[in-house]
Amino acid sequence: MAIALRTLDDGAWISVNDSREVGVSDVWILPFREYCSCETPHVLLEGFSGVDLRAIDNRIVADAVGMCIDCGTRDYIESLPVGRIVDGEFKSYEPGSVQTSPVAAVPTP
Ligand SMILES: [Zn+2]
Repeated sequence: MAIALRTLDDGAWISVNDSREVGVSDVWILPFREYCSCETPHVLLEGFSGVDLRAIDNRIVADAVGMCIDCGTRDYIESLPVGRIVDGEFKSYEPGSVQTSPVAAVPTP
């Protein structure tokens, strides 16, 4: 099935099948430690520059710009998992519950 993915409003939203599903201005706990020197980066998203469906595990990954609220590092984030497709429907991840393991990050519906 085709999933329509777009960024809207100058990158303020990720649209899945013409519905605004993921917005900026949430604080995400990043699974990537290389983002900044913090042990657990808490990053306030400022804008999405791209979105893609990763076929290998049906996850929606977004490219974004954000800022660590702990140390102030502002950087580009590549392939942040923001949700996944389950039975053709988008299931968003909670911004605070992104986990380091790609397998364990799949929440039960
Ligand atoms: Zn930091």
